[in-house]
Amino acid sequence: MQGDEAATLDALVTETGAQAVYWNRRYGAAQREVDRALKTSLRERGVAVESFNGQLLNEPWTVLNQSGEPFQVFSAYWRACLRMGDPPPPEGEPERMIFQSLPARLTQRASKLDALGLAPRAPDWSVGLRAAWPAGEEAALARLRAFLATDLDAYAGERDEPGDAATSRLSPYLAVGAISPRQVWAALRAAQHAHGHGSARRATSAEKFASELGWREFCHYQRYHYADLATRNLRPAFDAMPWRKDTAGLRAWQRGLTGYPLVDAGMRELWHTGWMHNRVRMVVASFLTKHLLIDWRAGESWFWDTLVDADPASNPANWQWVAGSGVDAAPYFRIFNPVLQGQKFDPRGAYVRRWVPELAALPDALVHQPWKANAQQREAAGVRLGKNYPEPVVEHELARQRALEAYAQTGKAKGFAASLQNTKQGPKQDAKQGGKA
Ligand SMILES: Cc1cc2nc3c(=O)[nH]c(=O)nc-3n(C[C@H](O)[C@H](O)[C@H](O)COP(=O)(O)OP(=O)(O)OC[C@H]3O[C@@H](n4cnc5c(N)ncnc54)[C@H](O)[C@@H]3O)c2cc1C
Repeated sequence: MQGDEAATLDALVTETGAQAVYWNRRYGAAQREVDRALKTSLRERGVAVESFNGQLLNEPWTVLNQSGEPFQVFSAYWRACLRMGDPPPPEGEPERMIFQSLPARLTQRASKLDALGLAPRAPDWSVGLRAAWPAGEEAALARLRAFLATDLDAYAGERDEPGDAATSRLSPYLAVGAISPRQVWAALRAAQHAHGHGSARRATSAEKFASELGWREFCHYQRYHYADLATRNLRPAFDAMPWRKDTAGLRAWQRGLTGYPLVDAGMRELWHTGWMHNRVRMVVASFLTKHLLIDWRAGESWFWDTLVDADPASNPANWQWVAGSGVDAAPYFRIFNPVLQGQKFDPRGAYVRRWVPELAALPDALVHQPWKANAQQREAAGVRLGKNYPEPVVEHELARQRALEAYAQTGKAKGFAASLQNTKQGPKQDAKQGGKA
């Protein structure tokens, strides 16, 4: 059924005679408001209501520092979570479920999934996405099992290399709730115990993987405590940042035509599969906010529209982390060099060759910097800069200087030190403001 939540639920309770309603808790400010109102009105009708945690390992309000305030720094937050012990394992499937058949007048009104018109038809641009991401809980569990059986040991060592499929690729399933973090956590611990804690390599990888689930928690924690995480610089000093309006630059970035191979490979992987490797997400986000000096919110919004794992907590929290405007953020002045990042994490150019086939025939030493190839090398590889692959939209060293000057201006802005201090003290006040739900 479709319609306003309160009215639809009210009608459903009346027509079915339901005595209890249960749901999974939601954490966005607007969602919490809706759910609170639903609870009140259902209870006023004498209907039992209960909500459960289906999305997180720990409730955000249970992890606080010694002063009873939210943690600002991931490492301290995660240590506190680990001290709380493993979250309870998920309940098994119920042995028996009785489905009461709905009255005919209700089934007639029930919406068939197809009738909602959610899937794109003309044109159907989602073919690539469907091929890359089989939907549903079974697919999620299969992926989890395969990751734990085959890739876990190498995770810590190889998770930063986009050319290898070394990470779990569970993020879309976690984002839509096809699998819960408690299922993942329990399976991870079981995999460790099954091998008697196995090798040191396995133990290191398991802890690293667990801490990535911790980052997911920390993003949701921030969204809970800072309701407008998706729209407001958590460090207000960044309000004075002289972001550039650069439509052509933004478009080149979105289309994977910046002239920097690693950035372009990432943006094209995103467009074709709805996913991008984490290391490359950091590089492309740094490129947008520092090399192009474009406001992180423009990048957040493009990711929100194109990621299959688009998540209202993880997406803005990571953008604020890269841009430097978040609570626990990378310093703005740490500016990734996309060429060095490529050479370090994609040394043979496997990732770039896959997504930027125009450059596939260049030798390893040039694949991340085609402008360094001489005429003969370009000719041999079929690379025509400015024709079949763009010249860099901005020169690295100039861009770096420009970004640092912009950042220095923010430092001079009035109230810089004071505003940072306010951020440290202000989570409760911030949580009252509205945000993207
Ligand atoms: C600019 C930017 C935007 C991002 N936007 C999103 C987003 O919208 N949705 C999203 O799920 N992740 C986002 N991430 C985080 C991260 O890139 C993905 O979660 C990760 O790449 C998913 O791949 P995986 O499942 O193979 O991860 P694995 O390495 O296998 O990690 C396991 C799980 O841990 C969680 N995780 C790992 N890294 C992070 C992280 N940095 N922050 C939060 N959770 C993490 C994910 O749920 C992931 O599935 C973003 C990162 C950046 C830099």
